[in-house]
Amino acid sequence: MKAERLLFLQGGLCFYCRRKLNPKQATLDHVIPGSMGGKGDETNLVACCRSINALFANLSPKRKMETLLSWRGRIPCPEKTNQTGVIVSVIKPNSLTSHGGNNG
Ligand SMILES: [Zn+2]
Repeated sequence: MKAERLLFLQGGLCFYCRRKLNPKQATLDHVIPGSMGGKGDETNLVACCRSINALFANLSPKRKMETLLSWRGRIPCPEKTNQTGVIVSVIKPNSLTSHGGNNG
């Protein structure tokens, strides 16, 4: 399985940050790590930014989901900021900002 093919299947977007990803920058990430029995095929592999891949490398699927959900779609793209420290700081449990709640 090649990152470029997965990237194509994902519409050319990084699986995690949903930004356009250069095929040459694309890396393969195991959603479920191989050490946890994750398969090395299309059902378990995603193409993503190198930095996010490195960041998620040691995270369990549960932690990945938690991180992605906490980002609420506003994922700081490491390829742009070129600062993995930014992302790491986001992962750390911050106090949740309470919303104003102006729903009618
Ligand atoms: Zn990305």
